[in-house]
Amino acid sequence: MAGRVLRHYCGQLIRVEVFQSHGEIIPKFFNYVNNAHIVNCPNCSAVLDTDWCGSPWLVEPMDDNIAQYTSTNKYCSNCWGYEFQLVPAKDLEGNYLGMRVICVSCQEETIGYVSEQYIRRQQSEDYIHYRKDINGILQALGLPIICFTSEKQNLKELGF
Ligand SMILES: [Zn+2]
Ligand SMILES: [Zn+2]
Repeated sequence: MAGRVLRHYCGQLIRVEVFQSHGEIIPKFFNYVNNAHIVNCPNCSAVLDTDWCGSPWLVEPMDDNIAQYTSTNKYCSNCWGYEFQLVPAKDLEGNYLGMRVICVSCQEETIGYVSEQYIRRQQSEDYIHYRKDINGILQALGLPIICFTSEKQNLKELGF
């Protein structure tokens, strides 16, 4: 069964997998970073008991204007989507805490937000890796490698 990442009371992210044993549902807890099986929260060291199911929301509520700014200017860090919904958050007494900015596709799995510049940088790095990968494959097949030159250089070679 696929695990879910939940937020501990202290803010720590913990991955939870649910197993069934003799009809009983037993959650197992894993370190979100290295996937090691844990029985204590790595942040606050509280014992992770079987009653704890975590908050389904990984993101904290924000001030209304910050939430508005985030939803219009940022992208989801999971899927790089840009469609968000603002979900009002209240505490147990019904006091308004602010808005949660939730990715429409990732819902409870929304972890955070990235900027457009971040995505562009990642994409150009992916492209560099792609160029290396494709030439690695061509070389392995004994084929000539592709020369990825810039447009400027191509024009120069053509005599412009
Ligand atoms: Zn904790
Ligand atoms: Zn998303």
